[in-house]
Amino acid sequence: MTVADNKRKMPADLKRCVEFHGHICPGLIYGYRVAKEAIRLMNLGRAVDEEVVAVCENDSCAVDALQVLLGTVAGKGNLIIKDFGKNAYTVLSRSKRQAYRFSRKTRYDYNGKDKGAFDRLEAAVTNGTASEDDRRNLKRLKVDNLLARPFEEIFTTTEVSFNEPVYAQLAPSEPCAICGEMTMAVKMVKLGDGRQACIPCSQKS
Ligand SMILES: [Zn+2]
Ligand SMILES: [Zn+2]
Repeated sequence: MTVADNKRKMPADLKRCVEFHGHICPGLIYGYRVAKEAIRLMNLGRAVDEEVVAVCENDSCAVDALQVLLGTVAGKGNLIIKDFGKNAYTVLSRSKRQAYRFSRKTRYDYNGKDKGAFDRLEAAVTNGTASEDDRRNLKRLKVDNLLARPFEEIFTTTEVSFNEPVYAQLAPSEPCAICGEMTMAVKMVKLGDGRQACIPCSQKS
């Protein structure tokens, strides 16, 4: 976190997200708002195992807030990234058999009290004359605005049918026929001669 981030007054859960992510930014706030809304709607606790699953349709800053608040993390198989470049997220609860999708259907438009400053800074960024401070201030205005406004002004929420995602595969590993390194059997590729190789070796041979 930067010194400026440290001095900001922010809720403890947001602070944990910022510490994990490394900085505060509008993208992180999108994820923070989605995670909080999913927790509220489905009364979720942080996922200790795989009972909460997040499907993120981008690989942006927002994903980190979901990892911190929902426990849907890369190493556990309950974070699925479909990199469609969309600010959209589906959060599923296995125990409640419920799922919600949150997506954005409107362009971001600042509606806070510093509209004049926001427009001036945004114009400076657009025409390439913005200083580092200008960029930081623009981000700060956007962050504060995204934290303050009602959730439904930012995201459209849809309850979706619960389609249980597969649990993380606990697949046995086998040595690759070429490099000898242990590789999950399901990820191996069959070579022309019938031997099994890891993906990088299969692409080289
Ligand atoms: Zn970020
Ligand atoms: Zn190999």
